[in-house]
Amino acid sequence: MITQAFLRVESERLTTEAVYSEIVKAGDGFMYELKKGQVIRILDLAGNQAADTLLFDADFPEDHYSAIHTISAQQNIYITTGTVLRAESGTALATVVADTCGRHDTVGGSCSSQSNTVRYAHKKAYMHNCRDTFMLQLSKYKSSYAFSKRDLAPNINFFMNVPVTPDGGLTFADGVSAPGCYIELKAEKNIVILISNCPQLNNPCNAYNPTPIEVLIWNS
Ligand SMILES: [Zn+2]
Repeated sequence: MITQAFLRVESERLTTEAVYSEIVKAGDGFMYELKKGQVIRILDLAGNQAADTLLFDADFPEDHYSAIHTISAQQNIYITTGTVLRAESGTALATVVADTCGRHDTVGGSCSSQSNTVRYAHKKAYMHNCRDTFMLQLSKYKSSYAFSKRDLAPNINFFMNVPVTPDGGLTFADGVSAPGCYIELKAEKNIVILISNCPQLNNPCNAYNPTPIEVLIWNS
């Protein structure tokens, strides 16, 4: 089943009560450990940005977000309020508790040097991309577990609209997010969240103009 409707649910959390906030510029990354019960809001400040995101089980970091388990458990390829984001083991890592955009992509994956070459032009191969941002964040992250490229998996693209046709084709459609749209995730256990705020200068979804996002965290 593919749900076509957009489900938009606002949050009652006050920004003044957040315990942490940070602006993540386009092209920058963010990696942070959330304790069980904490809530993170990812805020699309200027609209139509792509926040490429992965989750890891903080207690068993080799167990990471699984698009396949998330999609099959909810019988829906899109993410919105109520979605449980699952790991390869099936463990519930986080639940979407608010979402004013209403639809997020699970299948498009992140941009990389290789995809820049294939999708745009060979001369674009050198350009900054989400896969490199992921790798930089993983390499800098202080943990007893040594994250490496084997920990990169197919990711979530928050705020991206990637409709899937009835015969299974992918279409990269215009963005459906807008300035101030956000999604909130509640950690179902201790998790590490990894975000690459896409630097993509060739993607029409952000009007060739990547913009910052903001992350805010609440204790509950
Ligand atoms: Zn990207």
